[in-house]
Amino acid sequence: MNRLNNDLAGIPGVRDHYRYLAGAQLSKHFTAYEFVDSTRYPELVVVPPPEVIRQGADFANDILEPYRELCCAAKPVKINSWYRNHVLNARVGGVENSVHQIYYNDVFLGVAADTVPSGVSIYTAMSRLADPKIMARMPQLRTVIIYPKNGFIHIDTAVQRDNVVFMVSMAKGKYEYISQDEARDIVNTMKNRFKINVSGGH
Ligand SMILES: [Zn+2]
Repeated sequence: MNRLNNDLAGIPGVRDHYRYLAGAQLSKHFTAYEFVDSTRYPELVVVPPPEVIRQGADFANDILEPYRELCCAAKPVKINSWYRNHVLNARVGGVENSVHQIYYNDVFLGVAADTVPSGVSIYTAMSRLADPKIMARMPQLRTVIIYPKNGFIHIDTAVQRDNVVFMVSMAKGKYEYISQDEARDIVNTMKNRFKINVSGGH
């Protein structure tokens, strides 16, 4: 990852950073551009320090690649939000110590990404994330939150947790914990426990 920073030395504009990042792969299917991009606030995007990029690359290889392959039918996964610098995190209304920042007060938090599978529904992806065989392939995974209203799944490697937790986002800032078995059977869990009918799709 040193190469990324060396190549960026002396490049003045964010647009040039973007152009560079667009071509830099963090893993087979995920780019540095996706890692830092913000659709809503492109002016707040900065090139992260090397250790942040290194954490992003580890997450891409250890979590996002197996997630894409095993949970999302090996089809493209759109990233709504991945790394957020502190300014961007505050601007989008992220909680102060959000894992999306990767480091907070110089402490490593883990890495987080909000994902939209293109090949399966978010319910199928959630159910597969709760499959013990698949979880064994992603030992660093810690948090899985499904956002039924917004249609994405947050996954992270929050280091303060000892094991994986599954949650459903009911409204902004309101989450319900569900068991691994409930996550495995998420369509019925939505129907029976939360009285929300969803389609498992695909
Ligand atoms: Zn998130």
